[in-house]
Amino acid sequence: MIETPSMSAPNRKVFDALARADKPLSAYDILNRLRRNGVRSPPTVYRALDWLVAHGFAHRLESVNAYIACQHHHGDGMHAGALLLCTVCGSVREVEDESLSRLAKKLSTRFLTEVNRQVIELSGVCHACCKPDTRS
Ligand SMILES: [Zn+2]
Ligand SMILES: [Zn+2]
Repeated sequence: MIETPSMSAPNRKVFDALARADKPLSAYDILNRLRRNGVRSPPTVYRALDWLVAHGFAHRLESVNAYIACQHHHGDGMHAGALLLCTVCGSVREVEDESLSRLAKKLSTRFLTEVNRQVIELSGVCHACCKPDTRS
């Protein structure tokens, strides 16, 4: 688990909700889960999500407008990973590869002076969902 003094109580609650979930959560899902824990206002959740994403604790899946806890716990800033999303069961795997960072750097320097946000999303059907049906 990540311990950081700068993580405020609401940020921690939102992070815990993401870390416990086995699927990406929308801001609305998070709000529903945290209502009992005293987090009731959408702006609190949005602020926490912004903070968690900005600090590398969570990632936003643009294609489904939902969030996952970072599975690598870098805890600091942007890193080069790819999010693999199964469109059948909704689970997400985060993968990291040095060559991804190198490629991102190579491509971006042609146009950008610095990269603030990098999102690589691949979606398809995961191995578990692709298993042949053995019930017959
Ligand atoms: Zn990550
Ligand atoms: Zn799946």
